Amino acid sequence: MRYSADGVAIVCPCCRNETFDKDYRQLNSRGATFFGLDWANRNATILVCQRCTYISWFMSEPRAHKN
Ligand SMILES: [Zn+2]
Repeated sequence: MRYSADGVAIVCPCCRNETFDKDYRQLNSRGATFFGLDWANRNATILVCQRCTYISWFMSEPRAHKN
C-alpha cells in the first residue's frame, strides 16, 4: 500500500520504496508520564517499508492509497 501525509506521497528515506505495511505502536512510557507528558501516552502509526523494513513513525495517521 502507498501512503501520503498532508498530500505528499511518503517515500522510504532509506531505499526510496513507496509501498509500506501499516501498524500501530503504543507510545506509553513511564518517563513520559512522570514528567506529565500525557500527550505521549497514545498510539503512533508506523509504516514499515516493504523493501528494506525501515520504520517511519507518524503521530497522525497517513492516508492510504490503492496500488
Ligand atoms: Zn525502504
